[in-house]
Amino acid sequence: MHLVIIGNGITGVTAACTARRLNASARITLVSAESAHHYSRPALMYLYLGHLRYADVKPYEDWFWAENRLELVHAEATGVDTAARTVQLATGQVLAYDRLLLATGSVVRTADWPGQQLRGVQGFYGLPDLERMARATQGIGHAVVVGGGLIGVELAEMLHSRGIRVTWLVREQRYWQSVLPPEEAALLTAHIRRHGIDLRLATELREVLGDAQGRVRAVLTTTGQELPAGWVGLATGVTPNLALAQAAGLATDRGILVNELLEASVPGVYAAGDCAQHRQPAPGEVAVEQLWYTGRMQGETVAHTLCGQPTPYRRGQWFNSAKFFSLEYQTYGRVPAQAGADTASFCWQHPSGRHLLRLNFRLSDHAVTGVNALGLRQRQAVWERWLGEQTPIGTVVAQLAAANFDAEFSRQHEPAIRRAFARQFPAIPLAGRPRRRGLFGAWPG
Ligand SMILES: Cc1cc2nc3c(=O)[nH]c(=O)nc-3n(C[C@H](O)[C@H](O)[C@H](O)COP(=O)(O)OP(=O)(O)OC[C@H]3O[C@@H](n4cnc5c(N)ncnc54)[C@H](O)[C@@H]3O)c2cc1C
Repeated sequence: MHLVIIGNGITGVTAACTARRLNASARITLVSAESAHHYSRPALMYLYLGHLRYADVKPYEDWFWAENRLELVHAEATGVDTAARTVQLATGQVLAYDRLLLATGSVVRTADWPGQQLRGVQGFYGLPDLERMARATQGIGHAVVVGGGLIGVELAEMLHSRGIRVTWLVREQRYWQSVLPPEEAALLTAHIRRHGIDLRLATELREVLGDAQGRVRAVLTTTGQELPAGWVGLATGVTPNLALAQAAGLATDRGILVNELLEASVPGVYAAGDCAQHRQPAPGEVAVEQLWYTGRMQGETVAHTLCGQPTPYRRGQWFNSAKFFSLEYQTYGRVPAQAGADTASFCWQHPSGRHLLRLNFRLSDHAVTGVNALGLRQRQAVWERWLGEQTPIGTVVAQLAAANFDAEFSRQHEPAIRRAFARQFPAIPLAGRPRRRGLFGAWPG
């Protein structure tokens, strides 16, 4: 069997490694236009910050691929003939496949702003973007970041680390309003501003202004201000990369449409990771998952099917994490920006404005349904267990220290959280002894 995988991101590489483990004799070829070897996309910012070198963000040594008989082709795939089962490459080479996996990831989404083609205006997704950004931001004094998601905060931190003054335009009234409840949004807004970022809410980009050489010099906002800018980062989201799938005539919507086995609309062709869209997502799950860990899970799952062990994709508990400058954010389960009518939401904040814990639970049976933690590191295994077992909120609050992943010597907030919970929900008993916290107090079993 010849398995051809387009894209060497986390999805494609996980699929290749898993397929090799499951099938020692298969021929496996990984095609990538972006980089010769796989690297960690979420770690890109640390290259700019100077914390890591490129070699540090490659999880596998360069000899790993030949050692595991994974053939690497550094080229763009320009077409797929699904009837002949061949992939055309920009180099003129044609690869015949028995099974094809599209793991083509995402592309930066932009609006049609006047001036966005000026030099010094760009999105941020991959290595070429990082290289462009590093060149274009040398020696500049001011930059503007447009768009309030997780890539926006990374860009703000990167620029700030080089002493560049950053104005950050966020369209919504509240920071990351579609995802975060108001308290989390307010805490993060204050935290980001404390780091010297000029975060402007309810403000959009109207136009990018250039100089005589075709380089950006300023932006105009919808609030009528002209802001100096030697560089503009467009962080207004990403969208599945459908170019190859559409050229191949596959069924697409927002992403490449797949069933639960991650099969696309043509026999022998599969899609996974950022570029895929589940035809029938389970209740409460999203159709397009654009996360590192879901890419890895989809890659692992689809490899089983590709190797003759049909395996439906089941994501399990929702999980995400990010870092906002020094503040860590973790979320497990479901914590919508606004809790539904069947849900109670308890939110504790430390007076310093540097720690927050939100616990959501069902009103009917008090089962915990989700957690947001800011500045409080939580153990994934404990939360997966609590959510999976629909643990009563009283037990969760009483045993909260079991989920604490902060170092042994850092301050313990659980007693304050328990007291605040008991004040707000006096009728809910806190069941069970408080458990030991920290690295050596791991949840048993
Ligand atoms: C800056 C940044 C930071 C992020 N941080 C986080 C984070 O902290 N946590 C998190 O969960 N997620 C994060 N994400 C999202 C996460 O990186 C993606 O969800 C994940 O990388 C998707 O993996 P993938 O393998 O599906 O696609 P990708 O990583 O996009 O890989 C697809 C690859 O396919 C290549 N390709 C596409 N078309 C072709 C073609 N025709 N021919 C050849 N090659 C092709 C592309 O060039 C690309 O290299 C971040 C994303 C970015 C951009």
